[in-house]
Amino acid sequence: MDSVGVTASAPDAGPGPAWQSKCPWGAPSTTSISCSLADVMSEQLAKELQLEEENAAFPEVVAVAEGPFITGENIDTSSDLMLAQMLQMEFDREYDAQLRREEKKINGDSKVSISFENYRKVHPYDSDSSEDEVDWQDTRHDPYRADKPTTTPRRGFIGKGKDITTKHDEVVCGRKNTARMENFAPEFQVGDGIGMDLKLSNQVFNALKQHAYSEERRSARLHEKKEHSTAEKAVDPKTRLLLYKMVNSGMLETITGCISTGKESVVFHAYGGNATEDKVIPPECAIKVFKTTLNEFKNRDKYIKDDYRFKDRFSKLNPRKIIRMWAEKEMHNLTRMQNAGIPCPQVVILKKHVLVMSFIGQDQVPAPKLKDVTLSSEDMKKAYYQILNMMQQLYRECNLVHADLSEYNMLWHDGKVWLIDVSQSVEPTHPHGLEFLFRDCRNVSQFFQKGGVAEALNERELFNAVSGLNITADNEVDFQAEIEALEKMNEDHVQNHGKKLSTFSSDGDPPIYDE
Ligand code: ADP
Ligand code: MN
Repeated sequence: MDSVGVTASAPDAGPGPAWQSKCPWGAPSTTSISCSLADVMSEQLAKELQLEEENAAFPEVVAVAEGPFITGENIDTSSDLMLAQMLQMEFDREYDAQLRREEKKINGDSKVSISFENYRKVHPYDSDSSEDEVDWQDTRHDPYRADKPTTTPRRGFIGKGKDITTKHDEVVCGRKNTARMENFAPEFQVGDGIGMDLKLSNQVFNALKQHAYSEERRSARLHEKKEHSTAEKAVDPKTRLLLYKMVNSGMLETITGCISTGKESVVFHAYGGNATEDKVIPPECAIKVFKTTLNEFKNRDKYIKDDYRFKDRFSKLNPRKIIRMWAEKEMHNLTRMQNAGIPCPQVVILKKHVLVMSFIGQDQVPAPKLKDVTLSSEDMKKAYYQILNMMQQLYRECNLVHADLSEYNMLWHDGKVWLIDVSQSVEPTHPHGLEFLFRDCRNVSQFFQKGGVAEALNERELFNAVSGLNITADNEVDFQAEIEALEKMNEDHVQNHGKKLSTFSSDGDPPIYDE
């Protein structure tokens, strides 16, 4: 065969311009290659060339450190496989969504509708997407389904003379087999055949039965695994994909491991990646993943339901979106605190139910909680005054009540106290805002009084000092009654005037407590 000259040369020879070295496909080679037509047509060669090109363009594969969500021996393969599976799942979902649109179009307003259920790709167990929450028509309760074929009586045959049929009759058996398919697990898609006069041979039936059983077991396994991962680690496939995206985009360098597994969230440590135009990524980050299981959050409805900032949206949302709102709330609250100069994590980014913030601690070691650290009496006193100050700032400058303030949500780092965990924080005019504040005050007072800080105010004094209110009751019961009365007054005001009082205190700015 004749040799065909294939020349790959740069438009302008000589040292390439600057863009060439930056080109993601690499700089065009200036040497010319000659090869035969056979070579040009060779798939092998094409593959090799492509590989060469890819290697040049992507010299480094972004590596993810062995994290809690990587299993298996070969990291790259397992994560690739997982990504592929996730992509497939997304694709299947899109396919189903299209199917649904077609189904809707065909059915229109007609009283008689047809279902495409059996053509769906996503197995019912795989579907957990909020976007795809649609009530699928349940074909298992199809009213048009044919009655069960008549069974053969005990004596083993029906009919008379030459019309006699035994239970071994091929046709009867076939029909029976078809009917028996109904006994397969309800999740098993048996197709549209049940309403028709279908005859399944024993061989086909047995094969199907076997498949149905193994499918049932697989589903159960899948389901169990999924439940497990969502409940235990909050990193379901969707969350993992979100985290991988953060690493792949270069925003995070590596996710090193889990710092904390709480009831409502899981917190990971990560090393920050490259800064973007508008964002500097801290060298170490904490990733708070809000759990997508809802049990725990049900108890916390009251924090968000009555928060007017979220009120309108709350009622319309499905549970998954409510979880996202928790994350959003934490972000907004942290930002307010940051603006007031309160030591707290700095928000890096929020993606759905995943909040990335700066890490309080160093070299992967999180700062200890106040409950776990032994402070000198001097530091203890310093911490107390700092917290008193922060509570006032939080109330007055951020217009917030922490609502879960205790030695569990305060970290000791760099010789000072840092506030964390503010997803449940509310504004003071929240219908229960003052009650939450009182509870915070009680936790703080008790902790420091037990910790030997003689100057520590009692909870009622602290409440007044933070809120600027002047509740005079000298016992807890009366004090709380007054708090509730104030809250009610505010609620009535909202009812009558359609808006809330901007603040509870009317007599000017209360004195700021300080050291
Ligand atoms: P939860 O609602 O589960 O209590 P938190 O926000 O309190 O969630 O986080 C749980 C734990 O994770 C904290 O007690 C703390 O030890 C750790 N943690 C959370 N955020 C950070 C952070 N930004 N830096 C360091 N550690 C953190
Ligand atoms: Mn906490």
